[in-house]
Amino acid sequence: MTAASVTVLAGPTAVGKGTVSTYIRDNYPDVWLSVSATTRDPRPGEEDGVHYFFVGPEKFHQLVDGGDMLEWAVVHGQNSYGTIRSTVDDAVANGKKVLLEIDLQGARQVKETLPEAKFVFLAPPTWDELVRRLIGRGTETAQEQQRRLETAKLELAAESEFDVTIVNDDVSRAAEELVALMGLKND
Ligand code: 5GP
Repeated sequence: MTAASVTVLAGPTAVGKGTVSTYIRDNYPDVWLSVSATTRDPRPGEEDGVHYFFVGPEKFHQLVDGGDMLEWAVVHGQNSYGTIRSTVDDAVANGKKVLLEIDLQGARQVKETLPEAKFVFLAPPTWDELVRRLIGRGTETAQEQQRRLETAKLELAAESEFDVTIVNDDVSRAAEELVALMGLKND
């Protein structure tokens, strides 16, 4: 695998990693946005093989034990998420630039195995704005929001481990900054 073709995008909960990544996937055919395996249940509108590979815990641990995961982690103390190595290898072999949208624990593992990858931290404009986005999207209970904000504090403290920080003040602007960094073309 050419590690230079791989970009890792991490950042705290509700910062907009998913929105920025989807914008890039939808506008730049050179990019392959990794589809992770997860043990969590699909949300309404999510499709197996498109948003995630929704697998049970047994299958997930088979993938881990078989050494098939490039990285994996239990995120927000709840569900397991991981990147299947062969899917990334195939995308790189097909000439794609790969974007991994993963959490901090996963980013640290990729740094061990693919240190030449690009590591990008997506940051909120301010802490208050992050809290506003998390509460505003209304997809978590108050208790879950608290838990995510605790994790977010730890994640924000890890910003210096990344090669570059992009501030997500505006989705298309932040996405275009990432596009320039990845050397993508939109034709
Ligand atoms: P959600 O359940 O909201 O789709 O994702 C929750 C969190 O899991 C997000 O922070 C996302 O970045 C992270 N995540 C998604 N896929 C992966 C993965 O393959 N590996 C790791 N380590 N984290 C992931």
